[in-house]
Amino acid sequence: MPDLDPEEFRRLAHRYVDWVADHRAGLASRPVRDDVVPGSVRAAFAAEAAEEPQELEALLDRVDDVVVPADTRWQHPGFHAFFPANASLTSLLGEIVAGGLGPQGMLWSTSPACTEVEQAVTDQLARALGLGEAFTHTGGGGGSIQDSASSAALVALLAALHRASGGTWRDTGVSGTERVYVTAETHSSLAKAVRVAGLGERGLRVVPFAPGTRTMDPLALAAMLEVDASQGLVPVMVCATVGTTGTGAVDPVREIAVAAASHGAWTHVDAAWAGVAALCPEFRHLVDGVELVDSFCTDAHKWLLTAFDASLFWVRDATALPAALSLTPAYLRDSASDSGAVVDYRDWQVPLGRRFRAMKLWAVLHGQGLEGLRAHLRGHVALAAELAGRVRAHPGLELAAEPSLSLVCLRVRADDDGPTRQLLAEVNATGRAFLSPTEIDGRFVIRVAFGALTTSGQHLDELWTILTRSPAIGAAR
Ligand SMILES: *Cc1c(COP(=O)(O)O)cnc(C)c1O
Repeated sequence: MPDLDPEEFRRLAHRYVDWVADHRAGLASRPVRDDVVPGSVRAAFAAEAAEEPQELEALLDRVDDVVVPADTRWQHPGFHAFFPANASLTSLLGEIVAGGLGPQGMLWSTSPACTEVEQAVTDQLARALGLGEAFTHTGGGGGSIQDSASSAALVALLAALHRASGGTWRDTGVSGTERVYVTAETHSSLAKAVRVAGLGERGLRVVPFAPGTRTMDPLALAAMLEVDASQGLVPVMVCATVGTTGTGAVDPVREIAVAAASHGAWTHVDAAWAGVAALCPEFRHLVDGVELVDSFCTDAHKWLLTAFDASLFWVRDATALPAALSLTPAYLRDSASDSGAVVDYRDWQVPLGRRFRAMKLWAVLHGQGLEGLRAHLRGHVALAAELAGRVRAHPGLELAAEPSLSLVCLRVRADDDGPTRQLLAEVNATGRAFLSPTEIDGRFVIRVAFGALTTSGQHLDELWTILTRSPAIGAAR
């Protein structure tokens, strides 16, 4: 037998689980990142794969030598860069089960459990987030777990193109008149979706910010839609972002959805990072107006304890994605599908095949409960509020934008960006914290995005010490 027998697997898997547990237990005493020379990992490999089988125990030694030193430690409590990527140990338990079952859930019939667990947990989460019954599978819409928010935006656009064409898009493709509306803060995945869908650069329309904000101006949107429509262009989709990647800005979903609907355009809400916060009643305002939109996406794999990939994507019309994407060659013909009584998730995404992603999400919901998830989110929001207060009170630092949930954008008080760039380089060189930059109105800004699994007040204090002892701040004063 080429594979491990189950008893041998049992023995080895215990060793591998011990390895993971030891790695996580020792994470905080390592730097967030080591210096890595490009090509150094590849250089540790022979050019040819081994002909003979080798001991799987020995692979862990290789991982220690080759992988661990060149891994950016996203699960480290000092990781505050980009947005978090919570690979909770809770979710890994679900991953083990999903991998152990090993189904391929392209059709309902290829694993009814794979499909229906996904339906059940996305329905539960639609309710917990306050999206409303219309987004549940029992309410005419439904949720799915995509690999990423980028894929969710793409399939939303494909469904929107099909709907805007009156159902001809899947036969005729695009005409070149289709337009998609975003802002300068919208995630680049929307521009990529527009490109992949064949609309070209001209298909993307950038709506200005409302005065004094970094959020879409709904009046400007309405005017653009009006002008474009009068010139024979087709407004296909408007993307409202709840929690932009740069600064955490929240577009006015309700006004945007009203403007979009009056031109028959699809409203997609990209809440990849921030949407999960709507689990907390005090942040429920983030999804205000969601009952008017066509699709909503938030990533469980960022800030909701679920190992990548698990992007939650809901549509209000369960028929919209299959209408655009369904194709049934003879080898996928299936009586359950033909009955119309089941969801075949292959019709909700670009690839045919799909993993049992819902299993790890179920493990998280089971092991944490909604209260556990809320406590996780609230803890990081409190850290951001505390950091923002300290920045406000510090003579050498300033906020570059209002804090948003667990995201703080700061810079050194100075006329040029040199000291802020220097500060970022100094913080990251310590290995105790890892921050990433963005740009606001042409100025270089440091983002502090709290949200790693074990980040606590102690790590905020450590970051604050590192920040404030930097000569970059002193030099600017
Ligand atoms: C992170 C992010 C994305 C991309 O998310 P993926 O799931 O990694 O594709 C899209 N939009 C926003 C607002 C994000 O923060």
